[in-house]
Amino acid sequence: MADEVSIKPIHRRWPMQDCPRCGARTRQGTACLAPAVRGKKRCRMHGGAKGSGGQSGRANGRYRTGRYTREANEMRQMVTGLLREVLKLVEKS
Ligand SMILES: [Zn+2]
Repeated sequence: MADEVSIKPIHRRWPMQDCPRCGARTRQGTACLAPAVRGKKRCRMHGGAKGSGGQSGRANGRYRTGRYTREANEMRQMVTGLLREVLKLVEKS
């Protein structure tokens, strides 16, 4: 272990080796361990490259409409309850 530079965190020797590593599984079944792209968990060859992956936000179906807020749920519940009562009254008459 004298002059050997290992990328295992335990055998760290240089500050640059502290960077997060790619966790992609290689064909050997081990982790890739190449430096991960900044802000991502994978290296540039395993899906960390610029522009890879899905679009973020609304473009990828992530909507926030307020349809299921507590207020909206309560309102919906109240309206369906009232409707049920009205239907009951209508059926009786
Ligand atoms: Zn990788």
